[in-house]
Order: sequence, then C-alpha cells, then structure tokens
Amino acid sequence: MSVEPFDAVDVIRIKRDGGVVPEAALRWLIDAYTRGYVSDAQMASFAMAVFQRGMQRDEIRVMTDAMIASGERMSFANLGKRTVDKHSTGGVGDKITLPLAPLVAAFGVAVPQLSGRGLGHTGGTLDKLESIAGWRASLTNEEMFAQMAGDVGAVICAAGSGLAPADKKLYALRDVTGTVDTIPLIASSIMSKKIAEGTDALVLDVKFGSGAFMQDVENARELARTMVALGNDSGVATTALLTNMNVPLGLAIGNANEVRESVEILAGGGPSDVRELTVALAREMLALAGQPDADVEAALDDGRAMDAWRRMISAQDGDPDAPLPVARETHTVVASSTGVLTRLEALPFGIGAWRLGAGRARAEDPVIFAAGIDLHAKPGDTVRAGDPLFTLSADDAARFERALEAVEGAWEIEEGGAAQTGGPLVLEKITA
Ligand code: URA
Repeated sequence: MSVEPFDAVDVIRIKRDGGVVPEAALRWLIDAYTRGYVSDAQMASFAMAVFQRGMQRDEIRVMTDAMIASGERMSFANLGKRTVDKHSTGGVGDKITLPLAPLVAAFGVAVPQLSGRGLGHTGGTLDKLESIAGWRASLTNEEMFAQMAGDVGAVICAAGSGLAPADKKLYALRDVTGTVDTIPLIASSIMSKKIAEGTDALVLDVKFGSGAFMQDVENARELARTMVALGNDSGVATTALLTNMNVPLGLAIGNANEVRESVEILAGGGPSDVRELTVALAREMLALAGQPDADVEAALDDGRAMDAWRRMISAQDGDPDAPLPVARETHTVVASSTGVLTRLEALPFGIGAWRLGAGRARAEDPVIFAAGIDLHAKPGDTVRAGDPLFTLSADDAARFERALEAVEGAWEIEEGGAAQTGGPLVLEKITA
C-alpha cells in the first residue's frame, strides 16, 4: 500500500483558518477524493471551508487543473475545423443552446456542446431535446467527432463519464451540502469540464439576477472574470457576456415548449429577447472562430440555421418533424386589472415549472416533457383585465396548486406603470 503524502484534516484546517492551500496538497486532495481515499464528509467540510473563506486565483487554477487531470482530455485537433462552445451558468427559460449550436455550425464552425440535465429550477438542455421523438443524448466520442467533422457540424450530447470525474463527484456532494453557489467551486467545476472537452474557444453566458446563481452583478462579474482567466490560461480562447436573468428568457419555460420556441427562432421569428441573446452569443462565438463579420441574423432569416438544426436532430436519430408532446391539463391565469406588467420574476416561474413536472427534484426522476409554463405577456407589456397572463401545463391537474403557490406575488400590474423595465439583456462583455 502506498503512503499518502498529506492528511485531509491538515488541508481542511488550512482552508478553515483562511490560509492558502499549497499546490501539491490541493492536487493530492482532489486526486485522493476521486480515488475514494478522502471521504465525502472530509470533502464536504473542505467545500464548506472554501465557501466561507474563498480561494485565491492560483488555488482556483490548481483546483481546476486537478479536476481536469482526474479524467480524459478530448482533442479535436484533427477535425480540420475550428471548434467553439458556449456555456451558460443557467437560468429560467434558457433554451439558447438549441438555436445557437446549429446557427454557429451553419458558418462551418464545429460546436461540441456537451450538456447536462436539469436539477432544481433551472432546466437542462438534454431534457429539452429529449422531448423530440427518437432523439438520442448519448454519443460515443467517435460519433461525436464524425458529426462535427461532417456536414452537420454541431453536436449537443451528454458529457461522457470520463470527463472530469472529480467534478462529477464533487458537484453531487456540493448539491446536498449547501456549497454550490460559491465562485471558486462554480468556476473550477464549469471550466474543468470545458477545458477537458478540448474546445478551441469558449463563450460564457454568465447570468445575474433573481433566476441566476449569482443574484447581483458584482458577483456575476467576478465569476465571469475568474472563468475567462482560467480558460485563457489553459489555451482556450474565452470571453463572457454578463446577461440579465431577472425575467424568464422568452415566453416558454419547460421542455417541449422550449423546443417549440427554439424552432420559431430558427425560422426567423420567436420572442425578441431569445433572438437577441442567440445573435449576441453567436457573434461572440464566430468572432473567436475567426469570423467577426459573419451575418448571423441572415442565417436565421434565410433558413440556413434551420437546415443545420434539422441535420443535427436527424443525426442523433430525432425526427425534426415529429409533433412535440402536448399536456393533458392546462390552467390559464388572467390579469386582474388593466395596466403595465412591471414585474415577472424568473425564479418563482422556474420553480413553478419545476413543480408542474418540467424539472426533477432528484437526479433519477423523469421529467414530463409537456409540462411547463407559457407566458402571454412580459414586463413592459400593457395588459387589460381578463387578458391571459400565463398558462400552466401538466399531465395531472393536481400539480397546479403548488405551482400557483410558487408564482404567487411574482408579478405585478401597475396602472400607468413604465412601459420599459428591467435594463439591458446583455450588460457587458468580459474579455480578461
Ligand atoms: N454548473 C456546473 O457545472 N458546476 C457548478 O458548480 C455550477 C453550475
């Protein structure tokens, strides 16, 4: 039996007391935790110490690197195309990956979009796409490579278990120990997977606001800067957009309804905020891939992005023409007065959709594809008493009561309220 070079308790104590964990000790901790030598209890204690005390940039870099080293590192070096990926820190109604990946692929750039499933109130890209009949989330590395190299160009699929296994284990632990929402752990978690994935470039969509991990802009900016530095230091050209998540994105919150809305965007229509963010992120991705002047909007309007979407869905055994699931039960809430809708908060509506069955409470739960919420008005819109405000959809009407409880008080109609609310959707770009 080999002798372990450090003691977990010593490492925990250093962080607990606000110190800087030496590089070798931190690398060992992550490796020993992945091997099962360091226990969940010890790692949870360390994560809580990080939550309380923070980490210096250099510690975050080492932690990220150690998590990358815990698994395989993919490479698309032989693809013959530039690769560029996008990651969003997650929000309500955030279906942007669906139109974005084929849109960027329409310009001949490969998009290796390894995605996850939803947990809690934020949805998961794979859950949304699985509402398309036949669509397959699991691809082998060879299938992924072939799809990106060929005329499809974009892949949205599940990350294989070989990628940053230390993060997989640690993220599950953080989820049940109240240690998810802290910058060093979020940044190292996200960036270890993205760097291990082997993309040439990466655009981060870092959310702030009530429906985001980071509620205030300052923290979101710090998270964005930390991740941009980690990416660039590892040779992945990385930029970030800080974007507003106080209000749900678009009108659809759920799974099948978000696919429907994404297809509208790909057809050149759809809600203006979803189109704006899709276009902004596509421009960033294409700029990093060497096409700063690409006419992204034209590709949405002339059907090129839609063609790429159809190829992408078909390549993974999905039928792009299959009807999407429709819920058995609906319940529409109407405006009780006439005025301007001045507030409609993302988080309660995300929780409401989750309670309708669109999300899962435990990783092993199924999602109900047709469940969710469709908004009929957004902040800034004028509504009249009796107008529909939003519709809840579920397979079982018994779910409506708890969903309605979640959204209670989460919107406001003001007589003579201001027509514009909420501030810009894209606040700023972070490059360093
Ligand atoms: N997403 C991740 O992959 N990791 C985090 O820590 C938070 C969001």
